[in-house]
Amino acid sequence: MTFEERFWRKVDREGPIVAGMETRCWTWTGHRYTNGYGCVTLASGENRRRGLAHRVAMQLSGIEPGAMMVCHRCDNPPCCNPAHLFLGTAADNMRDCIVKGRASRGETHAAIQRAHVRRGDEHWSRREPGRVKRGEERSRKLTAADVVEIRALRAEGHKLREIGLRFGICDATVCNIARGKTWLPPAALDEGPATVVLSPFAGVGSEVYAAVAAGRKGVGIELKPSYYKQMAKNVQAAGELDDPDQVRMFGATP
Ligand SMILES: [Zn+2]
Repeated sequence: MTFEERFWRKVDREGPIVAGMETRCWTWTGHRYTNGYGCVTLASGENRRRGLAHRVAMQLSGIEPGAMMVCHRCDNPPCCNPAHLFLGTAADNMRDCIVKGRASRGETHAAIQRAHVRRGDEHWSRREPGRVKRGEERSRKLTAADVVEIRALRAEGHKLREIGLRFGICDATVCNIARGKTWLPPAALDEGPATVVLSPFAGVGSEVYAAVAAGRKGVGIELKPSYYKQMAKNVQAAGELDDPDQVRMFGATP
């Protein structure tokens, strides 16, 4: 049986008709993440990899979501009916979530609960980016593949707690990995001075910072303007730019 056949065998096309929809939801009957989204095994064994069922459903219907999020018109997380799915940005998804009343507001909002934490430029990781750990310790629990998966899950909007439980790490660690503040595969710094360190989820630029501080070159990619600007500041502080060619950055809003 092909992957596609096995996938659709786990989908019940006789799901509910949700208010506002004209056709039935196709319910994922396999394992679900705690937020209700279907969880599909993409590869087993040592290279174990799991993904979101509705995202795979869209791919199997011939649309490759790439960096976009796959959202539900029917607001029914396990639904895999391609006709109920659409592509959106994280911002679209958040707006949709607020419209549908799923977002926290008021006192339960995370920003209010954590108002006492120093934020933005006041946060120690921005004032002293060299102190940010990047996963060099021997106690490291994660593999490079885990980090890629964590960033993908976070980009899909999964909760920090949920991802943390799956990988046995705390919420703050998940957050730092997702934002690119931590975790540099150690090999990248051990490959000698000629190597350029690529930081595809650069965040505030701690990997590029570490590379430049070690006399190397770094290439950082970050799409969120506020992180990108902070990365530029951090990296300039690292090299003081005696060699401008040491630092190269790509971003949505340079
Ligand atoms: Zn649906």
